[in-house]
Amino acid sequence: MALTHLDLKRAAECTSVAPQKLHRGEGVFKCPEDQLPLDYAKIYPDPELEQQILALPIRCIHSEEGCRWTGQMKQLQGHFSTCAFNVIPCPNRCSVKLTRRDLPDHLQHDCPKRKVKCEFCGSEFTGEAYENHQGVCPQESVYCENKCGARMMRRLLSQHSMAECPKRTQPCKYCGKEFVFDTIQNHQYHCPRFPVQCPNQCGTPNIAREDLANHMKDNCGSALVLCPFKDAGCKHRCPKLAIGRHLEDTTKSHLTMMCNLVGRQRQEILELRREMEELSVSHDGVLIWKLSDYSRKLQEAKLRSNHEFFSPPFYTHRYGYKLQVSAFLNGNGSGEGSHLSVYIRVLPGEYDNLLEWPFSYKVTFSILDQSDPSLSKPQHITETFNPDPNWKNFQKPCSSRNSLDESTLGFGYPKFISHEEIKKRNYIRDNCIFIKASIEIPQKIMG
Ligand SMILES: [Zn+2]
Ligand SMILES: [Zn+2]
Ligand SMILES: [Zn+2]
Ligand SMILES: [Zn+2]
Ligand SMILES: [Zn+2]
Ligand SMILES: [Zn+2]
Ligand SMILES: [Zn+2]
Repeated sequence: MALTHLDLKRAAECTSVAPQKLHRGEGVFKCPEDQLPLDYAKIYPDPELEQQILALPIRCIHSEEGCRWTGQMKQLQGHFSTCAFNVIPCPNRCSVKLTRRDLPDHLQHDCPKRKVKCEFCGSEFTGEAYENHQGVCPQESVYCENKCGARMMRRLLSQHSMAECPKRTQPCKYCGKEFVFDTIQNHQYHCPRFPVQCPNQCGTPNIAREDLANHMKDNCGSALVLCPFKDAGCKHRCPKLAIGRHLEDTTKSHLTMMCNLVGRQRQEILELRREMEELSVSHDGVLIWKLSDYSRKLQEAKLRSNHEFFSPPFYTHRYGYKLQVSAFLNGNGSGEGSHLSVYIRVLPGEYDNLLEWPFSYKVTFSILDQSDPSLSKPQHITETFNPDPNWKNFQKPCSSRNSLDESTLGFGYPKFISHEEIKKRNYIRDNCIFIKASIEIPQKIMG
């Protein structure tokens, strides 16, 4: 038998080559199984053997994928029309090829050409169109995106979120800021642009809440204002619009008020000035009094007899007697026209009621030699005296005494230094003289 070397069983299982389809070359044939040459003359159809072969039992060509079918070789084609593992094109002509087994799933879920019915609106779609329809079906029931909790068909959503949703945002119509709808009512109680009524009922419309304070302060015609003469004592108060009338009607009394105010202020200024002087006077019992512009002042004194120059006041010690030195540059009394006269007097002081009277402490006057101490020892001219307790000016000053009273007369030296003497040394230097007065206060009193 020509084909005996072929293993018939194997040939029956061979999936790609049927035994009758042997390869024909140039008169030489090779067995497709083992490549051995075959003699053409010895090949002939053998219907009986073919029947035997076709009757051989075989497994399905998809057995490795899992098909359990077995049958006669001749039944294989017939099996393919039902084999779950056979690859077939999708009957919807979607161009996909797949095993029969996977077809139902494909047809139901994946096939772009499958027919689908939307569960919400009931419309029919191809698979492709349905994918686009999903998530937009107007009949689908959805929750409000603002999370207000409402659920409705999608087609009603935009109307809801624009006009009905309590969580929709809406601009405040006064200030323009965006608010969640259910808080906007409350916002109006705080909105800075919300229109409010002027409490003075001036009738100005639409005053924004934040402008009200300024309105009442600067613009409200009905706001009560104080008369601009309030500091002078006018207590009048009236609407801003009426103030002009008040000013016209009360010019006289306003003027009187102003005069009184000026008087009070003058008094106050005097008081302050006195306090300032008190603060600036020395409190250590020593006065060094510089008289500058000496020659002009001497000239002045010569023209007006008894012209007296006064020193700044000074205190003998802290809380002590208040004193003042005076000088007649052209002399006074016995020194008139020839000498410089120097006096001291007691002024009414702040602490007079706490002090012993009459004033009784030793007084020393000097005119200072302004010579350079490194060139020659300065020779000051000095006089010292103990106050005469009978002298009226050393009694306790009475604040009411006037300047013509003899109690204001100073005590001192009409001939302190002659006009000749004063030209010597450096008593005058740079047209200045220095007069010094010092008071000797015992330590126990100073304490
Ligand atoms: Zn099969
Ligand atoms: Zn398909
Ligand atoms: Zn739909
Ligand atoms: Zn909503
Ligand atoms: Zn607002
Ligand atoms: Zn107003
Ligand atoms: Zn007034």
